[in-house]
Amino acid sequence: MTEETSAVMPLRKAAPSFAWEGVDRLPYKEADAAPFKAISRQTLFSDARLNGELRYFEIEPGGFSTLERHAHMHAVMILRGGGHCLIGASVHELSPRDLVTIEPWTWHQFRARREEPLGFLCLVNSARDKPQLPNAEDLALLWATPAVAQFLDGF
Ligand code: MN
Repeated sequence: MTEETSAVMPLRKAAPSFAWEGVDRLPYKEADAAPFKAISRQTLFSDARLNGELRYFEIEPGGFSTLERHAHMHAVMILRGGGHCLIGASVHELSPRDLVTIEPWTWHQFRARREEPLGFLCLVNSARDKPQLPNAEDLALLWATPAVAQFLDGF
């Protein structure tokens, strides 16, 4: 009888600058044409025995994530720096350790301040739908709210 060997290390040590042993720093999106700027993604936990994945995203100063919505939820904890997020028709300021819930089918986007990065943990379902991007009509509705327009314009 052979013992199953697990590929999962019980401990992966944190390294400087929000890196971790055995975790690759990847570009945010691969072949997607979705607009985003200056983001890296690190998958911290991803295992078939879990229903979720925990990722660490870092947006460089002045960068932003894709404006999108989808059926799956996001549970986010800010870890580093500061910035703002758009959730539906509201803009919120973000500080370390803040918790952000993105409900299904809610437009969302994260934006780092010009002077500092924005780093956050994001918990998602392992099986999840593909994000939807806003069409012209969706964008017109979003831009109609002054606070949202300022956010989308990069302040
Ligand atoms: Mn999303």
